[in-house]
Amino acid sequence: MNITGIKGMNDILPGEIATWQFLEQEARRIFHSYGFSEIRVPVVEKTELFCRSIGETTDIVEKEMYTFTDKSGNSLTLRPEGTAPVMRSFIEQKLYTQDPVAKLYYLGPMFRYERPQKGRYRQFHQIGVEAIGVDDPKIDAQILAMLCHYFDAVGIHDVELHINSLGCRDCRPAYRQALIGYLEDRLASLCSDCQRRYQTNPLRVLDCKVPTCQEATATAPSMIEHLCAGCDEHFSQVKGYLQNLAIRYTVNTRMVRGLDYYSKTTFEMVTSSLGSQNAVAAGGRYDGLISDLGGPALPGIGFAMGVERLVLMKNSKELPVERLPLFLAAMGQPAGDRAFLLMSALQKQGLCVEMDYTAKSLKAQMRRAGKFGARYVLILGEEELARQVVILRNMDDGSQQELPLGGVEKQLLTLLSNPAPTPAAG
Ligand code: ATP
Ligand code: MG
Repeated sequence: MNITGIKGMNDILPGEIATWQFLEQEARRIFHSYGFSEIRVPVVEKTELFCRSIGETTDIVEKEMYTFTDKSGNSLTLRPEGTAPVMRSFIEQKLYTQDPVAKLYYLGPMFRYERPQKGRYRQFHQIGVEAIGVDDPKIDAQILAMLCHYFDAVGIHDVELHINSLGCRDCRPAYRQALIGYLEDRLASLCSDCQRRYQTNPLRVLDCKVPTCQEATATAPSMIEHLCAGCDEHFSQVKGYLQNLAIRYTVNTRMVRGLDYYSKTTFEMVTSSLGSQNAVAAGGRYDGLISDLGGPALPGIGFAMGVERLVLMKNSKELPVERLPLFLAAMGQPAGDRAFLLMSALQKQGLCVEMDYTAKSLKAQMRRAGKFGARYVLILGEEELARQVVILRNMDDGSQQELPLGGVEKQLLTLLSNPAPTPAAG
């Protein structure tokens, strides 16, 4: 009986890892330059944390959570997103007593029970950031600037930044009521999901992918027209800063986001290249969340990027293939033992070296060196060992030179620590 993995939960194999590592490294590099520090929180939290923050009537809480009871009878949930756990930690660890402004980022797996398809999985990975403690619209613009910077840096250009404002606790209720009124007049044209949720979560109807719902809501009132003076001013300033930073954006008044905790600025990075999984990154302001979770009344804003979707967009072939600097080809047991010592010494010096562990023909070993894209192959046969020499073959131009075995370690380190070595003479 073969045990298989779980549907919608993928293995990330060595052949694809270079793209993942590149995307992660660039995130760390860029986020650090904007003053963000990494935070690592558990992948499991009390179920209540997500119900209270994300919202009881959202898709995530209604249908997508991996919730289970542990042996002590506690209801726990595999985290479906990163913001709630980070805020839980921020409050519980009283990070605000050190500094009321915190800029944090995280990387890691998230879990949602969804229908698996291209770009949508049950275990997926997010890279996210949270900036806590700043009301000023400058931070909104800076978060958006950093997001755009990231996409530029990783070479993903087929994206568009969509922004919207969802208002605040003062102005959203009236808009909600106006929207419910509008939807009531068109109930017959809505899908069964929307007919059920238009009272509890009317904004979600604007986001429904069913074509008849989209038609029925084409002329729906927008939040933008209902913003209070404060939210309106905030949104204008965000747009002004974006213009000053030369960041291109589209105001998308239908973008509502699927989590309840958002307020004011919300945004998505969308692409046309991933079919219906068109959001590669998404986020927004969550000014009431920290106090709702029992923390101080501090505002916050953040985003999360879906790494699988980034990987799909980032053609991994664009990444330079990493070549192996050196392969050791040894023939016969004594030469093999000597080569093994040399390999270990070079690896200890930080050089990437491979050899064949089984006695194979030189031809077979050269084939293996070719598979690794080796720049040099060091050949050590019985005859060379007897003469205390080695043959160093440059795989790019086929040239060979004989070197004394004693001291070859140092020579190789000098030759190969040069990032762009000139072909060996000989
Ligand atoms: P969608 O509308 O595609 O379901 P979402 O609004 O649920 O996205 P968020 O909760 O905002 O997504 O998560 C931020 C990002 O995480 C998304 O933009 C997407 O790139 C990624 N993401 C979300 N759910 C999944 C999933 N099941 N599989 C892969 N990536 C995902
Ligand atoms: Mg979703």
